[in-house]
Order: sequence, then C-alpha cells, then structure tokens
Amino acid sequence: MSMPQVSNVVDFELAQLMRADSQAKTAAIKSPASYTEVSQLISGQLQTTLDIAEIMEIFFQSSQYLVRYDAVHYLHTAQSVNVKIGAADALYAVNYRLTFQGEYLGDLFLQRSKRFHEQELISFESLTTSLIFPLRNGLKYHAAVQSALLDPLTGVGNRAAMNKTLQRDMDAARRAMQPLSIIMLDIDYFKNINDTYGHACGDQVLIEISKLLQLQLRTSDAIFRFGGEEFLITLPNTCSDYAQLVGERIRHAIEKLVIDFNDQSVMLSASLGCATMHDAEEQDSFIQRSDYALYTAKRSGRNCLKIAG
Ligand code: GH3
Ligand code: MG
Ligand code: MG
Repeated sequence: MSMPQVSNVVDFELAQLMRADSQAKTAAIKSPASYTEVSQLISGQLQTTLDIAEIMEIFFQSSQYLVRYDAVHYLHTAQSVNVKIGAADALYAVNYRLTFQGEYLGDLFLQRSKRFHEQELISFESLTTSLIFPLRNGLKYHAAVQSALLDPLTGVGNRAAMNKTLQRDMDAARRAMQPLSIIMLDIDYFKNINDTYGHACGDQVLIEISKLLQLQLRTSDAIFRFGGEEFLITLPNTCSDYAQLVGERIRHAIEKLVIDFNDQSVMLSASLGCATMHDAEEQDSFIQRSDYALYTAKRSGRNCLKIAG
C-alpha cells in the first residue's frame, strides 16, 4: 500500500490500521513519548466523550506529545460541525480528508509556524486512526441532537434550540458588552390562508418564509419556529436601530413574496416585534417584551414592526 501524501485522503481501511500499528515502532524511536503511549492515551481519553469539540480538544492536547503544532481545525460542512482550536495564523498547513470505508468523517487541518517533516506527518497521520470510532460516534450523536433541535417542517431550530441558543447569545453579549436584539415575527391572517387554500398551502408558506428569513440574515443570526406561524430571530451584536432596519427589510421581503400554490398566487404579510436585551434581564422577560411589541404591531393594523420599551 502506498503512503498517502500531505494534503491527503486518509481512508482508515483495515490495512491502514495495521500499518499504523507497524509505524508505531518507527515513531517510538524518534519521539520523546512513544507513538503507542500517545495513541493509548488518546484512545482512552476519547472514550469519555461524544462531543466533537471535546474530542478535538483531547486530540489536540494529547497529539502534541508526538508532534508539536499550533492549531487544529476540524470541519464537517454537511453536518455543520466546525471546531477550531489553537492560534490559526501559522504559515504551514496540512489537510487530511478523513474517511472510513467510504464514509466521510470530516476534514482535519493542522497549522504551525515551522514546516512539517515527513516523519512527523507519518506519526500524526497514524495517530488520526484513533479518531475513527470516536468521530463516527460523535457525528452520529451530533446528528441525533441536531434533529431533536430542528423543526421537521421548516428545518429551522425548534423551541428547545431557541432556549439554548438565546441563553448562549445572552451570556455572550453580556461578557462582550455587546447589544443583543430579537425579533418575534407572526404571519398575518395565516388562518385565512389555511382556510382558503388548504393546510398544504399553509405548510408551503411556512417553508418559504423560513427560506426567506435564512436568506435575509447573517450567519451569526439564527431563526427558530416559536409556535405555529410564529418565528423568533436572534440578532447578536445588534442594537435596536439596526434590528429595526433588519426587521423592516424582512417585512418588505415578505410583503413582496408571491407563493405559487397549485397555479394560484398567494400573497401575505407579517407583523414583527423587536426587543433589545436589558442589563440583567432574564430570557423569559426578554421574549415577553418582543411578544408584547408584536401584539402592539397586530393591534396597530398588522404588516408593521414595533419596538419594545
Ligand atoms: P393574526 O393575523 O392575528 O396572527 O391571525 P392568524 O390567522 O395568523 O393567527 P391565528 O392564531 O388565528 O391562526 C394561526 C393558525 O396557524 C391556526 C393554526 O391552525 C395554523 N397553524 C399552526 N401550525 C401550522 C402548521 O404547521 N401548518 C399549517 N398549515 N397551519 C398551522
Ligand atoms: Mg398570525
Ligand atoms: Mg400566531
């Protein structure tokens, strides 16, 4: 079997697992800690967690005994996993595409300020075999957690995801002393859409509104289905004035949206309530203020945005 190159595809076939074992002997002679010791250390520690960020942290810390490097970046785009550890401004980088029996397990990027030597890369590459089963299990766990947090109809986060993300955003905003705004959005006269065009049309409206919201927002913003035809949007590092602009942009986009359902054109509008976090405010109160602003928007005739006091 030929040796994979730098910027490699690392496919953990059985033969390679055996090769890793034989390489252990070579690596053991050249490294301060033996390959076998480091490999055993990593394997033992990796059994303690299913969390991919923790898996990568353990791997990063322990693999340093064998190969010193500055940063590791693990990426699995399809599963939205992106973990960066260390200072990633070094000159030299190596990339491993991890697969096991044809199953893609993500990409691993190493960085450091000095060039990597061939022997170091061989040792490192062998070490990555200890990641196979922990990563596979971690990815399965991640997928299960993700699906429990997603709304099955629209694919946006559900209420449980919202509670988690909003709390995290609130804590981060306080630490960084940055503003945090939220928008509660409710489709106007949605019951009429169901009654006029049928429930399937209502479902399509919810899906298209979710897509529209995703297109309108930055990657740091998040959208959650709060209830039936109600969505909550989190806008980190966003003051009230800017949140109002974002909300108005969304409102206009919904007003212009024409949904084609069975050759019929369905038009709609939405009402929005916007709130910016107060100091020491609890999550419930923050949401309630945005909900009250939404209620005010409804009372003012709908298809408008109101700001919470
Ligand atoms: P308003 O302008 O005051 O918001 O009026 P509305 O008709 O939009 O609000 P209302 O709360 O009276 O009706 C919401 C409707 O949304 C009632 C419910 O049957 C429908 N709904 C909730 N979830 C879904 C869903 O997943 N799919 C569909 N098609 N309809 C849903
Ligand atoms: Mg409504
Ligand atoms: Mg509603």
